[in-house]
Amino acid sequence: MSERVRKPEWLKISIGANERYTETKRIVESHCLHTICSSGRCPNMGECWGKGTATFMIGGDICTRCCKFCNTQTGKPMPLDPQEPVHVAESIALMKLSHAVVTSVDRDDLPDLGAAHWVQTIREIKRLNPDTTVEVLIPDFQGRKELIDMVIEARPEIISHNMETVKRISPLVRSAAHYETSLEVLRQISESGTVAKSGIMVGLGETPDEVAALMDDLRDAGCRILTIGQYLQPTHKHYPVAEYVTPAQFTAYKELGLKKGFTQVESAPLVRSSYHAEKSTQYLQKR
Ligand code: SF4
Ligand code: SF4
Repeated sequence: MSERVRKPEWLKISIGANERYTETKRIVESHCLHTICSSGRCPNMGECWGKGTATFMIGGDICTRCCKFCNTQTGKPMPLDPQEPVHVAESIALMKLSHAVVTSVDRDDLPDLGAAHWVQTIREIKRLNPDTTVEVLIPDFQGRKELIDMVIEARPEIISHNMETVKRISPLVRSAAHYETSLEVLRQISESGTVAKSGIMVGLGETPDEVAALMDDLRDAGCRILTIGQYLQPTHKHYPVAEYVTPAQFTAYKELGLKKGFTQVESAPLVRSSYHAEKSTQYLQKR
């Protein structure tokens, strides 16, 4: 794994910036907001921002955890910005989003781990955007059920929590989250009647059998929507890429996931948790 694996053609993307991209950037910056698009150096920024969509990251831009695959800054976060929920909601209104996706850094420094801030953000989005469906990508809240319930009770349409990788690799790359805890988070979401979604990266050294076992665990927890994308090493200090998974293998994962009963599987090299998330609304309408 010491030799760097050369990036294949299918991962080369152009970052063309159009007028809509510039407008998205202006809205985000003028509201002093953070996005996982830029913090995570997402390869789809040209496409998503160019279509006027982005994934907001609340709780600031400094995470209390330090996962080996993640480009978000780690350290002691700033106090929460009480204006952030309304700024996110206003930005969603300006962007005229029919489906909004919000995530956060982990705030293990706060007594409620940021749960009340999450609730306030969801409420503000719904207050200013009554027709917008809300998808939240939440941390594990250290498995504290009462905090996860607070988010569920704010009634976002989809709650996502990422497993990130297969069981064997999870302790190697996630700094504090545990495989079983994450499954329990998803089970709690699904048992509440809210749509549960999860995402993983491949190319970290997992085998197809391990991915299949993860899919079984997710289905057992009631997870309905799954995203699978290629892991890209953000900098040379991060966990190395073990393999660039072929587009054919991504298609095979999609077919396998649908066979195992997921309602929606997005599986392709550049897929991220929030990539084409608005497609999930088709599923919500069919429920
Ligand atoms: Fe990144 Fe890990 Fe923090 Fe999530 S918990 S923002 S993956 S460092
Ligand atoms: Fe942002 Fe998600 Fe699009 Fe990436 S895929 S640019 S994180 S909205």
